[in-house]
Amino acid sequence: MPAGTRLIAPCGMNCGICLAYLRKERKCPGCHGEDTNKSASCIKCIIRNCEIIKQSQSGFCFECIKYPCKRLQQLDKRYRTKYSMSMIENLEFIKGNGLSAFVERENERWRCQKCGGIICVHRGYCFHCGQRPN
Ligand SMILES: [Zn+2]
Repeated sequence: MPAGTRLIAPCGMNCGICLAYLRKERKCPGCHGEDTNKSASCIKCIIRNCEIIKQSQSGFCFECIKYPCKRLQQLDKRYRTKYSMSMIENLEFIKGNGLSAFVERENERWRCQKCGGIICVHRGYCFHCGQRPN
């Protein structure tokens, strides 16, 4: 697996830009990582625990017969509204272009123009220097 791809959750979320992953204390290792420091909502997440996804080849929701299921649609709507990011759009990109291309696009999309740090999707600014994207 190329670097960074392990941080992409089945729902299309890039755990690398999540506040829980970026924070210094009680860092979450991401959806695919161990449960230590993971939020309760992520541990009991229907998508993460979905048997269909676990048995699928790619491990992503677009392979599912129920795609996009209600839970994914809710999640997608919340993120589009609150954080200007779409899980379903991410999934469609992965489906069409592959995971490595997606990770590359993500690295570019969330890179701080000022210091090269990572823009946190939840905070909306660079976790390293505080710069907001233009
Ligand atoms: Zn920065």
